[in-house]
Amino acid sequence: MELISIIVPCYNEEETIPIFYNTVSGVSSQMNKKYGVVFEYIFVDDGSSDNTLKIVKSLAENDDRVKYISFSRNFGKEAALLAGLEQASGELTAVMDADLQDPPELLEEMYTAIKNDGFDCAAARRTSRKGEPPVRSFFAKLFYKLINKISNAEITDGARDYRLMKRCVIDAILSMREFNRFSKGIFGWVGFKTKWIEYTHTDRAAGQTKWSFWKLLIYSIDGIVAFSTIPLSIAAFAGILFCFAAFVMILVIIIKTIIWGDPVAGYPSLVCILFLVSGVQMFTIGILGQYISKSYMETKRRPHYIIRETNNNTVKGHP
Ligand code: UDP
Ligand code: MG
Repeated sequence: MELISIIVPCYNEEETIPIFYNTVSGVSSQMNKKYGVVFEYIFVDDGSSDNTLKIVKSLAENDDRVKYISFSRNFGKEAALLAGLEQASGELTAVMDADLQDPPELLEEMYTAIKNDGFDCAAARRTSRKGEPPVRSFFAKLFYKLINKISNAEITDGARDYRLMKRCVIDAILSMREFNRFSKGIFGWVGFKTKWIEYTHTDRAAGQTKWSFWKLLIYSIDGIVAFSTIPLSIAAFAGILFCFAAFVMILVIIIKTIIWGDPVAGYPSLVCILFLVSGVQMFTIGILGQYISKSYMETKRRPHYIIRETNNNTVKGHP
């Protein structure tokens, strides 16, 4: 029988896990009847401070398809996804959020796309940003435009981290050992034939989103730094541009002095130029700093996560 692993990163999801489990179990038994597939669940408790782990444990007691990994603290969704992917043993593996914003009904469509239409992976893409604050939508759109222009990983606007993948795709993703993980970029970077399944966005089944605007902004900068080195070139371009401007200004001043003599020096304009140039310098040093800090974290080779508890005795060595 074919095994499908479902990876669910959970951070303080005590309210949503029972609803999630019931809904996905429904889909699972339907697909079992139709296609003879079986599901295994891998819940990754990302250092939750509520009863998430307790709830997952009680599920595991009653259902031996439920596996869990619990981290020693909150390591972030990227680490949780990686841990889940490392433990997944299915021929096919899906990643899904716990809050049912990723409709489990799509799993069947994803499955048939891979089985019948020759795709390596099938991913969900939300078509509308309804219900999202307009400022957030604006910046999200801007981010996708920008990152697709300056990086070689195709990152689809509206793509969720909800996808079903073949073993070969999982292996490719796991071969990317970087510390600064940006899954949307990693999924795009590995390539493979992907079927995009569109759906309308739904609100969380319960609980609160873990993403503030600020967190998203930092996440998007991390994404750009992880998948493009173009910002580094901005520093060089800014340098050339300012040298050129300075050269023109020198010429203008020399010519002005020759024609009209030496008028009173323009102190205010000098201060403005000083501020502008030092601003650009700070900005470009900041860009450099981003890349250096990322390289610094990479060189430390720290583990992506630390497991405190698991019921999976086949836990493979994690990095
Ligand atoms: N999540 C996680 N670790 C974190 C933050 C979030 O494992 O530090 C999980 C969370 O439990 C959920 C998924 O990642 O299953 C997506 O989070 P959320 O629903 O808050 O994000 P949104 O859907 O608003 O993008
Ligand atoms: Mg969500």
